[in-house]
Amino acid sequence: MKDFYDVLIIGAGPAGCACALSLHKNGLQVGIVDKETFPRDKVCGDAIPGPTFKQMDKIDVEWGKALRNFADKADVRTSRMYAPNGNSFAVDWKEYSFNSKRIHFDHFLMNLVHNETDANILENKRLKELEVHGDYVLCKFHDNTLCKATVVVGCDGANSVVKRYVVQKKKLKSFHCAAVKVYASNVSDLEKATNEFFYLKNYLPGYLWVFPLPNGEANIGFGMELKEKEGFEKSINLRKTLLHIIENEPILSSRLTNVKFEEEIKGFSLPMFTEQRKISSDRILLCGDAASLIDPLMGHGIDKAFISGYLAAQQILRSNVTNDYSAKYLIQYDQSVYSSLGNELKRSKYLLRLVNRTPSLINLFAKIARNKKLLQWLVKVAKI
Ligand SMILES: Cc1cc2nc3c(=O)[nH]c(=O)nc-3n(C[C@H](O)[C@H](O)[C@H](O)COP(=O)(O)OP(=O)(O)OC[C@H]3O[C@@H](n4cnc5c(N)ncnc54)[C@H](O)[C@@H]3O)c2cc1C
Repeated sequence: MKDFYDVLIIGAGPAGCACALSLHKNGLQVGIVDKETFPRDKVCGDAIPGPTFKQMDKIDVEWGKALRNFADKADVRTSRMYAPNGNSFAVDWKEYSFNSKRIHFDHFLMNLVHNETDANILENKRLKELEVHGDYVLCKFHDNTLCKATVVVGCDGANSVVKRYVVQKKKLKSFHCAAVKVYASNVSDLEKATNEFFYLKNYLPGYLWVFPLPNGEANIGFGMELKEKEGFEKSINLRKTLLHIIENEPILSSRLTNVKFEEEIKGFSLPMFTEQRKISSDRILLCGDAASLIDPLMGHGIDKAFISGYLAAQQILRSNVTNDYSAKYLIQYDQSVYSSLGNELKRSKYLLRLVNRTPSLINLFAKIARNKKLLQWLVKVAKI
C-alpha cells in the first residue's frame, strides 16, 4: 500500500469499480480497497438492471460490450408480477438485462479494474476510521496500517464506515428494508428469461422473488419493509417466513415441492432511498448503498451504485482542476446524483407508499393488465 493516494475508494462492489473505471487515464493515483478477497459473494437478488449496461457504455463502449458478452449470466427480458389474488401480468423490458450471481458479476468488474486501469487494488483490507484534515484524509485500517488521500469515496455498502463522516448520527440508525435469499435448484416451470415477483396477501408490504440463473438454478428471496429502528434481527424471522411461504403458499409450494437449496438462506439490509440527503462532505463522497440509493419499489441498487460511482469520478475530475474538495464545492456531486436519479427514486417511493396503503391496487393492476395496450400505457406513465 502506498502512503498517499489522490483518490482512495473504499469498497470494490459495483459503485467502487464504476468509480475506479471512470477515473482511468486521468493521471490520478487511485487506490481501491476492500475488506474481502475476490471473488467474494454478496447477498443479492442478482438481477443486473438495464441502466448498468448503459452506464458502462458511457464509461467505455468496449467494456459495455464485454459486460454484455460476459459468460456467467441468464438473459432476462420480462418481469412477471403475481397479484395477491393470484392473477398475474408480464411486462417486457426494452433495455437489455441479465441475472448473474454476484460472485461472478463483481469479480468481472474487479478484473476489469485490475486489467484496464492503473488503480492500486488492495484486498482483505478493512477501513476502521477516518480523520479529515485541512488538505488530506487520514485512513486507518483494522490491520493498523495508515494512508493519506486527497479525497475518499465511500463505496462500502449498507454498513458503510465512511458514511458516519457524512450522515447525521440519528439518520444512521434508520433502516427500512431487509431481505433474505437462497440459491436453489429443481424449481419447476421456470419461465424462460423471466423474473417473477409474488405479492402475497399475508406478506405485504413485501414480495417474494424467483429469478432464473445460469445452469437451471434460481435465486429465491423475500424482502420486506421494516419500520425504523426495528433492527436487522428481524431478518431471522424473514428466513422463517421465506420457508413458510415456500411450504404453504399454493402458488409457490406446487412449483417448489422438489426444490433443493444449494446454500443456507442468507440475509442483508437494503438501504432504500427515503429522502434526498447529504452524500458528500469535506473530501468525502458517498456512492451506492453507502448513499442509500436503492430504488424502494423495485429493490434495484446495482445500477444506482454504478451511476453514482461514475458521477463521483466526474466530480473528482472537476475538483482536481480547481483543487477544491470542500463540502461547499462537492455539493455539486449531490446535485448531479439527485438530478440523474432523484425523480425516479421519489416516484418509486410514492408508488410503494400507495401500494402499501392499498394492496388491492395490485389486483386492479393485474386486471387492467389483461389489456396489453393499457398495460403498456400504464407502465409508461408510471415509468416502472
Ligand atoms: C437480498 C438483497 C437482494 C437484492 N437484489 C438486488 C437485485 O436483484 N438487483 C439490484 O440491482 N440490487 C439488488 N440489491 C441491492 C444491491 O445488492 C446493492 O444496491 C448493491 O450491491 C450496491 O452496490 P455497492 O457497490 O454500493 O455496495 P456493495 O455491493 O455492498 O459493495 C460494498 C463493498 O464494500 C466492501 N466493504 C464494506 N465495508 C468495508 C470496509 N469497512 N472496508 C473496506 N471494504 C468494505 C464490501 O466487502 C463490498 O465489497 C439487493 C440487496 C439485497 C440485500
